[in-house]
Amino acid sequence: MSTTEHTPRECVKTFLDQALRELDIEPELAYLLETPHRTVEVELPLRLDNGELAVYSGFRVQHDNSRGPFKGGLRFHPQLDADHSQGLASLMTWKTALMNIPMGGAKGGINCDPSELSVAEVERLTKMFITRIEALIGPDRDIPAPDVATGGREMAWIYDAYTQIHGHHPDVVTGKPLELGGSHGRVEATGFGVAFSAERACGARDIDMDGARIAIQGFGKVGTYAAQFLSEKGAKIVAVSDVGGGLFNEDGLDVAALIEQTRDEDGSTKSVTETSNLGKEISNEALLTLDVSVLIPAALGAAINSDNVHDISADIVVEAANLPVTCDADDVLKERGIAVIPDILANAGGFVVSYLEWVQNRQGRQWTEEIVREAQIEYLEAAWTTLESRMADNNINFRLAAYTVAAERVIKTKNLRGYLL
Ligand code: NAD
Repeated sequence: MSTTEHTPRECVKTFLDQALRELDIEPELAYLLETPHRTVEVELPLRLDNGELAVYSGFRVQHDNSRGPFKGGLRFHPQLDADHSQGLASLMTWKTALMNIPMGGAKGGINCDPSELSVAEVERLTKMFITRIEALIGPDRDIPAPDVATGGREMAWIYDAYTQIHGHHPDVVTGKPLELGGSHGRVEATGFGVAFSAERACGARDIDMDGARIAIQGFGKVGTYAAQFLSEKGAKIVAVSDVGGGLFNEDGLDVAALIEQTRDEDGSTKSVTETSNLGKEISNEALLTLDVSVLIPAALGAAINSDNVHDISADIVVEAANLPVTCDADDVLKERGIAVIPDILANAGGFVVSYLEWVQNRQGRQWTEEIVREAQIEYLEAAWTTLESRMADNNINFRLAAYTVAAERVIKTKNLRGYLL
């Protein structure tokens, strides 16, 4: 990737600035909207199984809580730092507002590679992190959730660590296993929302879902379910990939077989390249340039950047990952007439069900999968309807419409509450 590429934080600022200009917001307020409320970095010493000491850094950035408690995922990734967390936390503020859910934005995690640690080491590290930030989080303050390389297992440890100090509080974290107050439909929620957005975007461009060619980069929690729901809608998933490489089949991959061959009962996963008789290998780079109706980057940020944006051949890019298109590449896609469904809309389905999990926890109830799905669809429909009318009224694209709607809502609550002492 080009060294002049903007960082994740700069990209969110760029997208927000465009919206604030469209809304004619004065620079003073714009500055406050861009700046995180709080950035915390903690030292995390870990006694490794072999007796040696390792020291990691944990981050929690709380960006804005004018609409409700901070909310956002925790990721375990060696390259995570404060700047990256700040960008992702800001993104959460705009996502929660766009979904019209009374919560704010946060993000964080640990700069570790969990695949190099034992399960016991990851548990100790996760719990150490929570003991260092427990005073800053809580059901009415800040509610973490899963993100890259974290899932129900880590959320259960967070619930345990917090509860040891503060008493029974399942609503301190979402994405928990069902047995600990998790919600039906949470595991597949983000992928469901991605498929929902892809279908709506195809509708807007008169592309028939039945037989639509789709490529998905990233076959983790999000990519897997997006592939499953989209193939159920009749789309042809011609390629998928993960960190180990990709798989291509011109006639459409057998998604059910792919999931079966890559997922073990104990929850461990194998690369799509280790499956047999489903397709031929393709590199991650080549997957991104396939001639498809919909390209879904569902791995990490900056997958589409200045270096490869001119080779993108899709009609629509659906941002399943957070910030998978850099702001530099976004300008080029715009010029080339490629529609981009922004992350704050496309992958918000997971956040919506996280919120519904929190609501259930506060009620002390667990709803059925049907009730959860119905409520999730209601939020997604409402966001799409608001967005489509904003796009039509102001003649602007998806991303600008999404950021203007979200920023307007945050500004409204800031003004109502009064934001300066
Ligand atoms: P995950 O860890 O379950 O899966 C990530 C996938 O990306 C894996 O298949 C991994 O092999 C692949 N990958 C990693 N590095 C890659 C690379 N360099 N090239 C190609 N593939 C690579 O994570 P996830 O939960 O599926 O999250 C994926 C993205 O979606 C992230 O950007 C995350 O922030 C975003 N997201 C996740 C959720 C959620 O509910 N899990 C919600 C909103 C957004």
